Amino acid sequence: MSDAADAGRATETEAGTDGRDASAEYPLRVEDLHKSFGGITAVEGASFRIEAGSLTGLIGPNGAGKSTTFNLVTGVHKPDSGAVCFGDEEITGLEPHEVANKGLVRTFQIARQLDEMTVLENLMLAPRSQVGEVLWRSVLPGARRGVLAQESTVRDRAWEMLDFFEIDHLAEEFAGNLSGGQRKLLEMARALMTDPDMVLLDEPLAGVNPSLEKKLLEHVHELRADGYTFLLVEHDMDVIMNNCEHIIVMHQGRVLAEGTADEIRSNERVIDAYLGENV
Ligand code: ADP
Ligand code: MG
Repeated sequence: MSDAADAGRATETEAGTDGRDASAEYPLRVEDLHKSFGGITAVEGASFRIEAGSLTGLIGPNGAGKSTTFNLVTGVHKPDSGAVCFGDEEITGLEPHEVANKGLVRTFQIARQLDEMTVLENLMLAPRSQVGEVLWRSVLPGARRGVLAQESTVRDRAWEMLDFFEIDHLAEEFAGNLSGGQRKLLEMARALMTDPDMVLLDEPLAGVNPSLEKKLLEHVHELRADGYTFLLVEHDMDVIMNNCEHIIVMHQGRVLAEGTADEIRSNERVIDAYLGENV
């Protein structure tokens, strides 16, 4: 178990004693992020890093700053101070499409305008809205980033996603007709259209029935085994404890503790601040 202070120290010496490059081992590194909205401080000195290929959980009480942190990392909001690094680059303050172009995406709720488009159309539009019109990542496996992908390639990738998430039978259905759970699958499929390296999931299971929840989690594990890195915010503690090998606990805008499920469960500060009310 490392507490917040330890996590801060670890970040300072992130090259590590074994000489391995921190940017490869920890692709996402967040340092001392601050963000206020008017008089409300949402994030107040959050620091953490995410291990490559991990499924890391981010938990904390309502208002702890989890969603704001996601928004700061993916360029939806600009931090007041602090740094976000992804791979070997600093990405602080970049626009969402620029961040996506680096291979870091988050899921978004499907906007109402997209309800009148089919599932397939939703997927085919996703890369464009994520990484911009001109320079977007090729969805060809192994191709260089920034290659202008052909419509046929995007269509192929869309069908790959439909197939993977087992919603190919819904390809011609309007997004507005999907169930809550199917919508969540489409949201995740949309995020994956550009074949990112890392995906941030903010409550992807909200309103999803148990069998679809199981399926969604299986998909996440399968993708993780394929090399994707995931950061997951989820209010269902059992889901986090049973699926994430590493857990970060946020409280009042900063990291309160980090560790494995067992370490988090027995951490006095986490119990006092958070788990006490949940168990
Ligand atoms: P969490 O996702 O952990 O529940 P949030 O990051 O959504 O927490 O919110 C942290 C705090 O910041 C809350 O007090 C919330 O009301 C406030 N907040 C978040 N986004 C905004 C915003 N766009 N404008 C004003 N206040 C916000
Ligand atoms: Mg939230």
